[in-house]
Amino acid sequence: MATPAALTNLGGTNNGYCFWLGQAAVTAARRSVAASAGTVLAMLLEAVGQEVPTAVALRRELHASPELGGYEIGTASRVAAALGESGVPSATTGRLVRIGAASGPSVAIRAELDALPLTEQTPVAWASQNGASHSCGHDVHLAALTAAGRAVRGVGGPLPLVALLQPREESQPSGAQDLVGSPQLEAQDVRAMIAAHVHPHVACGQVSVGPGPVNAAYDEVTITIRGRGGHAAYPHVTRDPVIAAAHVILALQHLISRRTDPMHSAVLTIGTVQAGAAANVIPEQVVLTGSLRTFEPADRASLRSAVGATAGATAEAYECTAQATFTQGEPVLDNDAALAAAAAVCLTQAGFRVVESLRSCGSDDFAYYCTRYPSLMMFVGVGQPGGTDTPGLHHPAFLPREEAVGDVARAMLAGYVAACSVVLPGTRPGEDPLRF
Ligand SMILES: [Zn+2]
Repeated sequence: MATPAALTNLGGTNNGYCFWLGQAAVTAARRSVAASAGTVLAMLLEAVGQEVPTAVALRRELHASPELGGYEIGTASRVAAALGESGVPSATTGRLVRIGAASGPSVAIRAELDALPLTEQTPVAWASQNGASHSCGHDVHLAALTAAGRAVRGVGGPLPLVALLQPREESQPSGAQDLVGSPQLEAQDVRAMIAAHVHPHVACGQVSVGPGPVNAAYDEVTITIRGRGGHAAYPHVTRDPVIAAAHVILALQHLISRRTDPMHSAVLTIGTVQAGAAANVIPEQVVLTGSLRTFEPADRASLRSAVGATAGATAEAYECTAQATFTQGEPVLDNDAALAAAAAVCLTQAGFRVVESLRSCGSDDFAYYCTRYPSLMMFVGVGQPGGTDTPGLHHPAFLPREEAVGDVARAMLAGYVAACSVVLPGTRPGEDPLRF
């Protein structure tokens, strides 16, 4: 990284902020300005091309040695080393690696450190053998962030870049929730938060980005139904919680179809049913677990309360009891409108086709950053034409192609430059305010 003394102010001040560029980059910049559109993004895109082969090798290395949430010590060290410094530890196994001036406003890019507890089912020589798997593309995101960070380190940029290596995206407690409001992250003076996630429902060469909610709020529910157990041959002297649970599951479905505005998206899924352990025994209790996904705060509150009331009243009809308890998960992932508009311009400049925003009832703990910073999640296409049967996110055979590393790195740089254009005062998205 260029030292402060070596920084050269190419553009004078930009309403109080300086471009920071090393001397070699100045020369390159002048050549680049003469030869091309002359934007910071063009220079960064040129520089990142040199970094991608190393990043692809790093992706293979990370993919072969995945670590589960809370245990990402080796992954964090390796990625920080690839970025050129160890960074600031945060949220236990996380790291914040700052590139550029040590103080003042910054833009952060998040990449997730953790893998999933899945046994990988891919044919590549660098497949994981340890029972964990990067089946959500986090290896690609991490490798791409090293390429993007190294490009910013070499070329410079309008604002410092904070590479946020986040633990525990796939498990609780959420790493993002721990980081938001932490003294380590607060000290970075982050003015915008960016993330890019590979997505098989978006075609290669395309990036889905748009304003407003793109992922749902998420809550988990546990419903315990209690009856009176006994011999399967004498049901009349029991109060069978299995029968009650079956009716509870069906009764809950009307909460979405009949009690929720059809113009609002919401999903209630019961994912587990734990009843007895023997075919000839009526158990004492049944435990159901499920997930509730909503976009409207009012729906979130009313559905939580309706789940409890419906389960209780239904169980009561079978002379059983039901108690529902919720664990609150991520809020809605709400993309900042100005960031989305600026990113669409920069992504186009980076050679992507920007498509209609992919919105789903999925969830991502990146949503916690949206409660603290203007934030933007981009979905980078890894889908193949006609590939609807190919394994998707969280499938043990999910394996984005190697070109995804370069694609995500370029999308991250587009997001970074877009965020700088929004954060720096006196500039407007889409106006190419970062021209030298
Ligand atoms: Zn995931």
